[in-house]
Amino acid sequence: MQDSSAEAAMKRLDILGAISEEPDRLTRQFAGEAMQRAHDEVAEWMRQAGMVVRHDHIGNLRGRYESDTAGTHTLIIGSHLDTVRDAGRYDGPLGVMVGIAAVHRLHDLEKRLPFAIEVVAFADEEGLRFSSTYLGSRAMAGTFDRADLDRTDAEGTTMAEAIATFGGDPSRIGEDAWQGGTLLGYVEVHIEQGPVLERLGVPLGVVTAIAGQARYEITYTGEAGHAGTVPMRGRRDALAAAAEFVLAVERDAESHDGVVATVGQLSVYPGASNVIPGEVALSLDLRHPNEAIRVESTRRILERAREIAARRGVTTRTEQLSDHSSVPCSPRLLALLAKAVEAGGMTPELLPSGAGHDGVPMSALTDVAMLFVRCKGGISHNPAESVTTEDVSVSINVLSRFLELLAKA
Ligand SMILES: [Zn+2]
Repeated sequence: MQDSSAEAAMKRLDILGAISEEPDRLTRQFAGEAMQRAHDEVAEWMRQAGMVVRHDHIGNLRGRYESDTAGTHTLIIGSHLDTVRDAGRYDGPLGVMVGIAAVHRLHDLEKRLPFAIEVVAFADEEGLRFSSTYLGSRAMAGTFDRADLDRTDAEGTTMAEAIATFGGDPSRIGEDAWQGGTLLGYVEVHIEQGPVLERLGVPLGVVTAIAGQARYEITYTGEAGHAGTVPMRGRRDALAAAAEFVLAVERDAESHDGVVATVGQLSVYPGASNVIPGEVALSLDLRHPNEAIRVESTRRILERAREIAARRGVTTRTEQLSDHSSVPCSPRLLALLAKAVEAGGMTPELLPSGAGHDGVPMSALTDVAMLFVRCKGGISHNPAESVTTEDVSVSINVLSRFLELLAKA
């Protein structure tokens, strides 16, 4: 069956996919010139869907579809318009386009709901320009950190300057915090960025929680020495300890359901082929959607790091670089999304999100829920990102049904 709104959404995603700062690949940073052009397009699509559009100071684009006269509540539907470097065209913009499409259907039917809908295109989720994520959603949630305004990009432009050039007033970002009265929640449609839905053979999944995430730097210090003259017995090889730890991390995560743990960086000092490694620094990234399990897994793996060091006669030092709690999705909104999936004749598949999303900061403001759309090969942050028109059609239908169910709830 042809679905004109899904086809329109796909066409718009192609248009946005061509709006880039770089000629041969898609890169659209926070408050950049390409973002300005993307805003011009998206603002027009929002207006065509019956929304009143405004830009806030941080650089979010907000389209508001008013409620019927009785309604004083608002539902926020959002995702981000910024991208990583050499990005695909669906990570972020898909959720904005699906939100606009669902509102457009209401507008076509001249239908108002007992609540207003705000579709928000967030200014920055990926953090490419200033290495600081969630700028848009943190401003909206009222948790924007003003110290970030002094951060500089690769050209030496401060965030405050970039915001001013984009048309915002950096001193008034506090006003971007939600002031529109009672919220019903925040809903985001996003590509899965993983292979689970494709393996299950289903177009959509309902997200149960956004995994919490901790990052550490772990340093092993042993003793450097001559590779030819220091006997094997009694060596204090920092890299051998680190290697044992890397495999221990993998084994631990594999044997605990839902834990994902990765050592992605390893630097070896002095790093010469004829020298016993004296010091190794490595990264640890550990995630789990359940907060208690996440904390316990982190404790267990760090304990293992110390145990390996003690047994091998090297010392270890651990520094926490970041720690974000898991965000459970709202059971109320999750149940309505699942019902909306069921009403389409499908079995709702529940899955956690291993990646962070704007729902993380938004959870400080209101209940959050997410719908994942199957993407080819689970590939994201890559020009090969791909979704089908059929799956986009299903996601617009499910979001529309969700709005109807929410209106009755
Ligand atoms: Zn994203």
